Amino acid sequence: MEKKDTPKNSLEALVSLCKRRGFIFQSSEIYGGFAGFWDYGPLGCEMKRNIKESWWRFTVRDREDVEGLDASIIMHPATWKASGHLDTFSDPMSMCKGACRKLMRADQIWDVFAESAISEALSGMLTEAGKIASWCKGKGKSVAPGLYTVQHPEYLEKIFERLKTITDVKELFVLLATPDGEADVLPCPNCGGIMTEPRPFNLMFKTIVGPIEDPSNVAYLRPETAQAIFAEFGNVMVSSRQMPPFGIGQVGKSFRNEVTPRNYIFRSREFEQMEVEFFIKPDEAVELLHGHVAQLTDATDLSEPQPDWGWECWHKYWVEQRKIWLVKNGLPEASFVEYWQKPDELAHYARACVDIEYRFPFGVQELEGIAARSDFDLSRHQEHSGKSMEVFDEPLKLAVKKLSEAEKAAFREKVIAAWVARGKTPEAANAFLDRLFEGRYIPHVIEPSAGVDRMALAMLCNAYEEQALVDEKGKEDVRTVLHLAPAIAPVKVAVFPLVKNKPELYALARSIFKKLQRRYNCFWDESGAIGRRYRRQDEIGTPFCVTVDFDTLEKDGTVTLRDRDTMKQERISVEALICKLDDLIFG
Ligand code: ATP
Repeated sequence: MEKKDTPKNSLEALVSLCKRRGFIFQSSEIYGGFAGFWDYGPLGCEMKRNIKESWWRFTVRDREDVEGLDASIIMHPATWKASGHLDTFSDPMSMCKGACRKLMRADQIWDVFAESAISEALSGMLTEAGKIASWCKGKGKSVAPGLYTVQHPEYLEKIFERLKTITDVKELFVLLATPDGEADVLPCPNCGGIMTEPRPFNLMFKTIVGPIEDPSNVAYLRPETAQAIFAEFGNVMVSSRQMPPFGIGQVGKSFRNEVTPRNYIFRSREFEQMEVEFFIKPDEAVELLHGHVAQLTDATDLSEPQPDWGWECWHKYWVEQRKIWLVKNGLPEASFVEYWQKPDELAHYARACVDIEYRFPFGVQELEGIAARSDFDLSRHQEHSGKSMEVFDEPLKLAVKKLSEAEKAAFREKVIAAWVARGKTPEAANAFLDRLFEGRYIPHVIEPSAGVDRMALAMLCNAYEEQALVDEKGKEDVRTVLHLAPAIAPVKVAVFPLVKNKPELYALARSIFKKLQRRYNCFWDESGAIGRRYRRQDEIGTPFCVTVDFDTLEKDGTVTLRDRDTMKQERISVEALICKLDDLIFG
């Protein structure tokens, strides 16, 4: 069959496939669903496991300098005071003052508007004042009942001439919502009413620990997995006999009471994260140990970590590692964007932050972030817990011992000047240097932080294709296929007996299926024509199909191996099949 190019389809088709084939269901669907919560069905949970497993292998198990952690979801509430989440982990929230009373994130109102029925209606009438006025008096009553000019059509006359000139749909919406020209108001994209002034809304879910409902027993579901890593930093370092540079990786659930969960599983209230905190020596320690800190240039070889790397090289190294993982797992480089946050976008403690953004059907949005967070987190926990987060670095102490007093003074002077240039006080620099000269410091950290659910969505969006095919007789057909990377695909191999009424052939096919099932998640299908069975597997992204036919039984013992993407088949012996599949799936 010949392939014809078709454009990538919208999210709607993918959402429908995911429900029909058992990837993702709405949580509590029998009770009408529960906004911001999702269930992963038989195929979705396999796929999610594969993403986490691949991340874990690449980031933790295959590295000697990263250890794993599986910490509790509910931590001592003081954790969240120290981390800053209690005071600042909030989104600006607005509520519609009109009839719908909808709550929305103030910074997302225009995004919601872009997808709204009001926007769709107004976009089709721009500059057609007559049509806009008729709409306000007619259809607008059901689409935008809260809109001022729908409730007070007499105002339309006053603004009629202006309606002829406005070419921007947002501007038109604001005018229809406030024909008196109130500045800075946000109209409600749901009903056209006016939203309240934004107020900060803390995103952490509260719960009560123990039987007594008292404010002193309030605890929080973790909004990120990272804080437990900081809290366990000392235990992990000592028990695993690591020293910076080394990392701790964790995969687990996080919870955020998002004001407007949206875009399917992109922004939910319960989700999973895959995070590493990679602890490094401060640049000043690297300089004392090696006489210099490696400069990051375009020519820097980032394939293997080097002892003279400072935070800049380590940060770029982790950006590159994450990109390698994404590409290895089926997201081509062209599908994502590397966004380096500008200095005014960075958190006050962060040295750099790169967002890896994916081109989702609803826009380019953050998939994961890689931040250089200085020693902020460990310092905060040291301050709030009273427990030291310093490491003692014997080689550093020895390196300092070799310096003359004059050399130490010159170093001190240089560091103080650099700290002051970064807005820190000379006192803070001196206190840090006093400890550093004793071989002690609080490690700095590079944090690659990714969301499992967002990753799954990006991989599904990237994989989905409705492929128009034309057969030898010119007949047109559409094949729905998920081009998932083999390591991520929920089912790796489907096994089919060509016919089911030949007992020996059937038994042989079953034995091959059982053999393969020991190594991979396999699917057995004996019903319908082979072509139809292939299509069912294409739709769920199964990369390989094995058919056991009469030649397997009567001739040479070979089976056919069919490739999902090329649709090509080859004959192969069962022994060679396993080697080949191992290579293709885990290679
Ligand atoms: P956003 O700006 O989109 O809210 P964020 O910058 O707050 O994201 P981080 O706190 O850096 O996100 O979290 C790290 C990763 O966790 C994100 O890149 C994303 O993949 C994932 N993540 C964060 N919030 C959610 C959510 N509500 N639903 C699903 N995944 C999420």
